[in-house]
Amino acid sequence: MTELKDVKGIGPRAIALLNKINIHTVEDLVTHYPFRYDVLERGDLGKTEDGGHIVIDGKIESVPILMRFKAGLNKMNFRLVTASGVVGVSIFNRAFLKSKLEVGFGITVIGKFDKKKNVITASEIKLETLSNKVKIEPVYHCTSGLTNKNLATYINMAILMYGKEIPDYIPKTYIEKYGFLNKKTALNIIHNPSTEEKLKEVKVRLKYEELFAFMLKINYLKLENKKNNQGLNRIIDKIKLEKFIENIPFELTSDQKNAVDEIIKDLESKNRMNRLLQGDVGSGKTIVSFIAMVANYLSGYQSALMAPTEILAVQHYNNLKDFLKNSEIEVALLTGSTPKKEKLEIYENLRNGNIHIVIGTHALIQEEVEYQNLGLVITDEQHRFGVNQRTNLQNKGLKPDILYMSATPIPRTYALTIYGDMDMSIIKERPKGRQPITTYIKHNDEMKEVLQMMFEELKENHQVYVIAPLIEESENSDLATVCKLKDQMTLAFGKKYKIDIIHGKMVSGAKDLIMQEFAQGEIQILISTTVIEVGVDVPNATTMVIFDANRFGLSTLHQLRGRVGRGSAKSQCILISSTDTKRLEIMKEVDDGFVISEEDFKLRGHGDLFGTKQSGDMEFKIANLRNDYKILLQAKKDSKEYLLNEESKEEQIKKDLIASINSN
Ligand code: ADP
Ligand code: MG
Repeated sequence: MTELKDVKGIGPRAIALLNKINIHTVEDLVTHYPFRYDVLERGDLGKTEDGGHIVIDGKIESVPILMRFKAGLNKMNFRLVTASGVVGVSIFNRAFLKSKLEVGFGITVIGKFDKKKNVITASEIKLETLSNKVKIEPVYHCTSGLTNKNLATYINMAILMYGKEIPDYIPKTYIEKYGFLNKKTALNIIHNPSTEEKLKEVKVRLKYEELFAFMLKINYLKLENKKNNQGLNRIIDKIKLEKFIENIPFELTSDQKNAVDEIIKDLESKNRMNRLLQGDVGSGKTIVSFIAMVANYLSGYQSALMAPTEILAVQHYNNLKDFLKNSEIEVALLTGSTPKKEKLEIYENLRNGNIHIVIGTHALIQEEVEYQNLGLVITDEQHRFGVNQRTNLQNKGLKPDILYMSATPIPRTYALTIYGDMDMSIIKERPKGRQPITTYIKHNDEMKEVLQMMFEELKENHQVYVIAPLIEESENSDLATVCKLKDQMTLAFGKKYKIDIIHGKMVSGAKDLIMQEFAQGEIQILISTTVIEVGVDVPNATTMVIFDANRFGLSTLHQLRGRVGRGSAKSQCILISSTDTKRLEIMKEVDDGFVISEEDFKLRGHGDLFGTKQSGDMEFKIANLRNDYKILLQAKKDSKEYLLNEESKEEQIKKDLIASINSN
């Protein structure tokens, strides 16, 4: 595989910068698609109004005169000969361009036209003319030190040198069927479109390619699952299971009961279970998974429950221990921070069957864990795990029943496509006795009120979550905002209440400790980044304050809000934002995650659908699940047909795909 360093003009410094925006290979580079285009249309001096915006190209007629002012300001003036007449150009603070602006040189000027003085005050000068009347310029996501121009140069060089070697994920049959351009040409056009029509055409091609590859993966898994769907032989001791269910301190909702029934049926069936349990935050999926594990135990098998974070794993572990305290079922916790010695003991006991249920993070199955008779694997917050990880167990030769749980409600049609390889149980109904959460929207300058609202709750001995603004640039600034918030909160509440923070950079042991203190009521205000987003359950926390709420998608806000309203006390969620309040209003009116996800879908496309930290392979570079749904359906159909077609068996695409799935 060609490396970035092989591309002419890319040195170590450029590589470091490219890595920063997640470009690691030549393929990453050439598929770093523009996120928008600037359309430069050549204007006409005569037709442009006074004060109007103008884009115009021409030749420099006079040597630029540079004037320097106080405070480092400078201004340059020169004359430009254009197709519609001669015009004066002035530009501020571009002294560095002087040596390049030679008489006779062709440039493009973008700026504001002062008709009376016949002068354009330029905001930008491009060192080339417009080759056509219209020029479409790609705009890329950049990073400091790496300009749009740098990126364009690197990308074009990479296409020139290695364009032919970039894999095309569309099989020949479909390239021909749809009359698609070849990959190299398509890449050339997406990065250097000459007309909007061409651009449109090529976008469809690249979107189709991306969605085809995605659906091929899903369909492949589906077929593999069908091939290996011989289930385990088991008889569940139903009487004991009933006793267990009776001992649960609350009555299951009818949706929970249905989900339990469906799971038990799957466990007992001849075929392997491959089921997704979808339910809004707080709908009570955990207890359903516990019952499934008990049923699995009662038929003589071990269970493993995987959580995406250590915090969640610990919480599940504690709950399950509590739930099973009068039973003979042995439960163990296995996470990244389990001490070596303890780990070895757990491995040993999993091998010899002394442990019946193990709960943990990924490490659980990724390390060399052996089970005596693993019968059930449950994955919590499934959207956090990639499609590739779904196959992990299969590669270990194990064939347990599999249950995925997701708290991200997905509109049904989309779910059917994306999770097409699974059966689905849905919990819509909330447990009884829940009070609805009241949602408020407060402007940034209403902080006093917000603090007052927090104080009222603290006085009642309730606890408060504060979510710090979402910062994408770096983890360090993430930490800085959390610390700053802590200072502010300490100023307001520090004398009476204990405040602490939790953030992504903390080692997980420290995180758990703080979470535990919060759960036990020793901390009253917990300031956090979105690490608490999934699953954490502290019923005494009644208030959720979210700073810069506008930066989050509605589904994420809904997930965050779901952290409160878990006890019997009235809860509230305060969204702080001075902008985008219209979108946020939906949060005040709607409390159904499925409806919110539909709204999010309408407003933002799929972007937030799978949560902010979605797994890599659900992120698309150019396709958008909502806008390109038709293409998705076509890709789904084609990829299935392709997989089933014996003749295409030898094609490299398929081999590569299978290799990529198996290597993960
Ligand atoms: P999620 O679906 O978001 O994972 P949980 O399983 O964490 O939700 O459940 C949220 C809370 O609701 C827990 O405290 C749980 O004990 C409680 N709960 C679950 N089911 C019921 C029920 N049927 N009646 C009352 N409380 C319930
Ligand atoms: Mg949960």
